[in-house]
Amino acid sequence: MSERHIVIAGAGHAGGRAAEALRAAGHKGKITLLGKERHPPYERPPLSKELLAGTGTVEKTYLRPLAWYAEAGIDLRLGVEVREIDPRAQRVRLGDASELPYDAVMLTTGARPRILPVAGGEGPRVFYLRDIEDCLGLRERLVPDARLAVVGAGFIGLEIAATARKRGAAVTVLELAPQVLARVAPPQIAAYVADLHQRHGVEIRTGAIVTGIEDTGSGVVVRTASGEGIAADIAAVGIGVQPNVELAASAGITIDDGIKVDEFGRSSDAAIYAAGDATRHFNPLCKRWIRLEAWQNAQNQAIAVAKVMAGGSEPFAEVPWFWTDQFDMNLQTAGPPGPWDKLVWRGEPAERAFTVFHLFEGRPVAATTVNNVRDMRFARMIVGRGQPVDPAALADKSVKLQDLCR
Ligand SMILES: Cc1cc2nc3c(=O)[nH]c(=O)nc-3n(C[C@H](O)[C@H](O)[C@H](O)COP(=O)(O)OP(=O)(O)OC[C@H]3O[C@@H](n4cnc5c(N)ncnc54)[C@H](O)[C@@H]3O)c2cc1C
Repeated sequence: MSERHIVIAGAGHAGGRAAEALRAAGHKGKITLLGKERHPPYERPPLSKELLAGTGTVEKTYLRPLAWYAEAGIDLRLGVEVREIDPRAQRVRLGDASELPYDAVMLTTGARPRILPVAGGEGPRVFYLRDIEDCLGLRERLVPDARLAVVGAGFIGLEIAATARKRGAAVTVLELAPQVLARVAPPQIAAYVADLHQRHGVEIRTGAIVTGIEDTGSGVVVRTASGEGIAADIAAVGIGVQPNVELAASAGITIDDGIKVDEFGRSSDAAIYAAGDATRHFNPLCKRWIRLEAWQNAQNQAIAVAKVMAGGSEPFAEVPWFWTDQFDMNLQTAGPPGPWDKLVWRGEPAERAFTVFHLFEGRPVAATTVNNVRDMRFARMIVGRGQPVDPAALADKSVKLQDLCR
């Protein structure tokens, strides 16, 4: 089994970790890691934080230095697109029309930003943020006193807003929903985050339906349904991502809001596995299919699936976890996105460090910490157990969270 040739399509975070994990798990056969970008596998969180702020470097985002891959016997090929998979012949076709035979494929093609579906949504002064080049292009424009209009108040939009303010830009955020972080946070936490931004001088307009972005030749005017026109030098759009599933589709494997894989990363084709943002996977802890766009999932799912490909039999089963840094706030969430019917606060927003448990029918289904990272470890355990917990005990800071994990 370990002498097989494994082709990894997509040399991003998941692809890089998968290649490392295959070697670490004892895979002796060939590993070919193919990536469209010109950079070796790297982490994307700094792209809206340190790298965009100008306090980090491109090299610091790399998982490993370029030379490491050859030393580990991994054939890393950059600037190479995988165009098609022929599952019957077990061959992949590359951008230069050459072909590679495989014994197994790991798809780690990630996701791409959703394009704002209005006139001017892809104009020359409209920026999206997914890769290093996007980040460097945007950073160049975030000079002091630049005017930036951000479309979308999700994590990416708000991180761009916070970093742009740090660089001295004037920032207006336009969000369709009545609150920021509408997809992921309860209104009370969203209000806390909006207030944080406003205290730092970000103008936030919720309920703003962007209908078009006009390019004036020297800047943009973002038009909204209420007839407003927000003038800015540039616009940045963060309205979510769509999984890169086209390659998987070319192999005829099942797609369902992502490449559908089980808890072992197996697709509907026995020789094709997948991990990371491109997938929708079965999570045995949450007992449902989920698609995540998060560092932890990219890294740990890729490692778990690589071990399976190397002969292991452990499923990937973790409580989903995500963090964001905006100004002086570190916010972390544990648990899959989903419904809740009660929030239990451990601490007060006024203290600027607190934890919130999201309960559904008496069971903790998610938890959010704000500047309270110490609670997160046990909050994850409590969410992972999924057992009913006394809300009064959860709210009582004199009760240790570790005691509620037992
Ligand atoms: C700006 C930004 C900030 C983020 N901040 C956070 C954060 O604070 N916390 C957090 O938890 N998560 C964060 N994330 C999310 C996290 O970075 C992603 O979940 C993670 O990068 C997903 O890894 P992946 O390998 O699945 O996809 P990617 O890292 O996107 O890698 C996919 C790679 O595959 C390549 N590719 C695609 N198709 C092909 C093909 N056909 N042939 C060859 N190559 C191909 C792509 O070019 C890309 O390089 C952030 C993401 C972004 C963009």
